[in-house]
Amino acid sequence: MNKKIFRSMLSVCVGLGFICIILVCYILYGYFETIIKNELKTEMNIISEEVENNEYYLQKIAPIGNRITLVASNGTVIYDSKADAEKMENHKNREEIAGALEDGRAYSVRYSDTLSTKTIYYAERLNDGNVLRISAEQSVVALLLKEVVGPFVVILLITIALAALVSGRVSRRILKPINEMDIENRNEDEPYPELAPLVAKIREQNRRIETQIEEMTRKQREFKAITDNMSEGFLLIDNRQEVLSYNKAAIELIGDSHLRESGNAPVTAYELNRSRPFRTAVEEALGGYNSQQMLELGERAFSIIANPVYENTTGEEKGSNGAVIIIIDVTEKEGRERLRREFTSNVSHELKTPLTTIYGVSDMILGGIVKEGDIAKFAGDIKSESARMIALIDDILMLSRLDETDSSEECQFETVDLYDAAAEVLQHLDAKAKERGISLELSGEHVSADVIPSYCSIMINNLCENAIKYNKDGGKVTVTVGQPSSAMTSSNAFIIVKDTGIGIPAEYQDRIFERFFRVDKSHSRSIGGTGLGLSIVKHAAIRMGCRLELTSTEGEGTEIRVIFS
Ligand code: ADP
Repeated sequence: MNKKIFRSMLSVCVGLGFICIILVCYILYGYFETIIKNELKTEMNIISEEVENNEYYLQKIAPIGNRITLVASNGTVIYDSKADAEKMENHKNREEIAGALEDGRAYSVRYSDTLSTKTIYYAERLNDGNVLRISAEQSVVALLLKEVVGPFVVILLITIALAALVSGRVSRRILKPINEMDIENRNEDEPYPELAPLVAKIREQNRRIETQIEEMTRKQREFKAITDNMSEGFLLIDNRQEVLSYNKAAIELIGDSHLRESGNAPVTAYELNRSRPFRTAVEEALGGYNSQQMLELGERAFSIIANPVYENTTGEEKGSNGAVIIIIDVTEKEGRERLRREFTSNVSHELKTPLTTIYGVSDMILGGIVKEGDIAKFAGDIKSESARMIALIDDILMLSRLDETDSSEECQFETVDLYDAAAEVLQHLDAKAKERGISLELSGEHVSADVIPSYCSIMINNLCENAIKYNKDGGKVTVTVGQPSSAMTSSNAFIIVKDTGIGIPAEYQDRIFERFFRVDKSHSRSIGGTGLGLSIVKHAAIRMGCRLELTSTEGEGTEIRVIFS
């Protein structure tokens, strides 16, 4: 604006300067002509008398000064101070001569061929009838200008310099109050009343912008609060895969390690993650399709849900303006799904084996290919396989009961004397132990614990049964019931089941509580194991809030401690 005002003022000043100079030249030009005419008239007055009195006067004064011509009344040139009179043509028709002959005196102005000069003529009729003419030359405007170009340029330069100086000062003085005006301050008056509507408009717009910014900031804070507190990862990208918005969870869940460590924001989607499923999801969403991909990173599994974003909400056109990507940690869900699949397949497999035996044996009996004497043996096989199936189904039912939150009476907590509960279990297993010459021993004290009685019995039973099953012939099982402090309270009561059996290899000790896990499958099966006993123990312990501890040495024996809460 400063420049514009400066330039306008400068051009106005320079333009005015030009016009002034031209006007001055024009006025001077007219003025000079008048002066010349007056000069000619004065000179005419002086010499006309002399010419009349003295015939040779003209020859005496010539050729000094202005051109003097004497013309006879018939137009013949008698004398000319600058040319040979005899060679000159008749002047009767010259405007000033004709005018003088008629009116006594006359002026005329004629321009030269080149127009560079003009000649002013003044003629007067003398008393003898002759006409005396005096003429003077005057430069025309262009010539005049040419002559005055030097001073003219100097004047122009001075004008420009002065105009620049003045324009600069004036424009600064005009703009200073505008520049110093505090537009934010509503109480401040505008420097010029002409600016009032503009200032009012700007202030109104500023107010509107402020409100909009406040609203946007509030919405952004809201959005950030929501997305940052989401456990799911969130990512918004444009169609060049550049990240427009994201939340912390997105980086924590699938972000590259350098992003997680540096805390930098990802610029593009692929900077966050470059895996194939993620790229496929991004590409499909940007291509206008909804996409769902499974991404596995180490032991964790993520579901990547990517949807296209359209700026016009119809979404008809192909290709999107961007994509919104949600990342969900489905590790647990996937794990549960896997366990469920494994469990179903294990159950089917476990049931299939005895059923195949039962089917085969009964088919043989029905076909009459079994000798009379062998029928009892085969019937025994059917019975033992059926018993195995029943045991398996019982265990599965028990597990499914433990999986559910059962609030039936059977599942209520009661205070139980753990020593008595262990004694009952051992009594029940006594016959089984004796078969293999294994001695059962119960030691410790009567301590009470708040437990679910049926779960507690099953837990002690399974532990003791395993201690017998995986013991060596003639081995020993010791059950110890007690409490670290001697007081008869239920806190931290424990039961330890210790055997002198085959032990569990160290690499399997973490896995024996898994469903259907057996260290030696065929051995376990041959001794009637279902592979679910310890899994039931684990779940019963969880339900009752107990802790399990295991110590085992291969070939020496196993000790499992149940610590009650
Ligand atoms: P199973 O019905 O096969 O005994 P469990 O879940 O009770 O199933 O036990 C899982 C596996 O852990 C068993 O197959 C066995 O290999 C091992 N195991 C459990 N208890 C003992 C123990 N006291 N001594 C040695 N191995 C054991």
